[in-house]
Amino acid sequence: MTNDTGGDVRLSGISKTYGSFTAVHPLDLTVPQGSFFALLGASGCGKTTTLRMIAGLEEPTSGTVALGDQDVTNLPPYKRPVNTVFQSYALFPHLDIFENVAFGLRRRGVKSVKKQVEEMLELVQLGEQARKKPHQLSGGQQQRVAVARALINHPKVLLLDEPLGALDLKLRRQMQLELKRIQTEVGITFIHVTHDQEEAMTMADTVAVMNSGRVEQLGSPADLYENPNTTFVANFLGTSNLIEAEVDTTSGDEIVLRAGGGKLSLPAARCSAPTTTGGKVLVGIRPEKISLTHADDAGSIPEGRNRITGTIADTSFIGVSTQYVIDSPVCPEFEVYAQNIDRDARLVPGTEVVLHWSPAHTFGLDATQSIV
Ligand code: ATP
Repeated sequence: MTNDTGGDVRLSGISKTYGSFTAVHPLDLTVPQGSFFALLGASGCGKTTTLRMIAGLEEPTSGTVALGDQDVTNLPPYKRPVNTVFQSYALFPHLDIFENVAFGLRRRGVKSVKKQVEEMLELVQLGEQARKKPHQLSGGQQQRVAVARALINHPKVLLLDEPLGALDLKLRRQMQLELKRIQTEVGITFIHVTHDQEEAMTMADTVAVMNSGRVEQLGSPADLYENPNTTFVANFLGTSNLIEAEVDTTSGDEIVLRAGGGKLSLPAARCSAPTTTGGKVLVGIRPEKISLTHADDAGSIPEGRNRITGTIADTSFIGVSTQYVIDSPVCPEFEVYAQNIDRDARLVPGTEVVLHWSPAHTFGLDATQSIV
C-alpha cells in the first residue's frame, strides 16, 4: 500500500521510572522494518509503557527512540509516523463507519477522501458497512474500523495495545488471523502488546517476552517455545516440566546430568546454564514431548532416550489429548500430554510408569533462577 515503510524501530537504552519505581529498565531493542512484533508479558511488566514511549505518549526517563535514520525521541505523538489502536477502539459514535475512517484525512485537509476510504474499508473487509454507525457493528467489526482508521494516514508503524482484549475467544482468534493478513498486505511494522501468549505466538514474527520491566528473551515463537533461556519464559509460554539435576560430564556437544539416581542428557546448544561438572541445572521438557510406558513394558523403550520413573496421580481426557499428572521423585506433578494414543486402560492412577523422551527435545536452564 505504501512503499516508504520507514526503517527499523530502534530503542536505545530507553527506560521509564515513576518516582522511585522503575517500570521499564534501560532497554535496547530493534524491531525490523515490516515485521509483526509482539511485546508479551503479564500485567504490569512494562509493555504498555514501552509502547507508549514509541508512540510519544510517554516521555522516556532515559534513552532514545529512532525510526530508520530519524531520532523521534523529542517529537510529539502527532509528528511521529506512527499510529496506535487501543483496546477501547475509541470510535466516534455519531459518525458512520466511512466518516470514522475518513476522519484522519479530513483533519489533514484532504479534499477527496472517497477512494482512499473505500480502499481502506476493502482492506478490512467492511466495504458493505460504510454507512452504518459503530453501535450497529459487532465487536470484531468495530475493531477492524479502528485499524482502518489508524492506517488511513499511512503510518510507518502501527502500535496495537491489547487490541483484541475486549473480544470473546472465538472472535479473538479470527481477528488474530485477520490482523496478520492486514499486516502482510500493508507491509508496515506492527508492534502488538498482549498478555496472551497464544495470541503473540499466532501473529508475531518476533516476540519480546517482558518480565518486571525487562526483556527476558527475544526470538521467533518457535525458538522461544523450543529453546527458552529462563524459567520465566519456559513457564510463561506453555508448560514445562523442570527437573533439578547436576552436571555429570560434558563431551563435545552432549551434556550428561545426574537426577534422582539416574542420568539425563541434552545437547550443549540447548543449555543456557553454566555446565561445569557438579553445577546445578534445571532440565526442562515440554509435556507433549514425553511418552509414557507401563513399568512392566520398560524393556521396549528404545536406547538413548531420557527416562525417569513415576506413578500416575491423575488423568484427564481433554479432547485432542489426554493429560497425565505423574508423581516422580525428581519432579512432583510432572505433566504429560499424550496425543493420538489409544487410551490405555492400564494407565490409571496408581500405575507405575516410565516417562521417556528424546534428548534433542530437552533444554537446560540456570538452576539459580527462581522457578516462576
Ligand atoms: P497491563 O497489561 O496491566 O497494562 P503492562 O505490562 O502494560 O500491564 P504498564 O502499563 O506498562 O504494564 O505498567 C508498568 C508498571 O508501571 C506497572 O506497575 C504500573 O502500575 C506502573 N505505572 C504505569 N503508569 C504509571 C504512572 N503513570 N505512574 C506510576 N506508575 C505507573
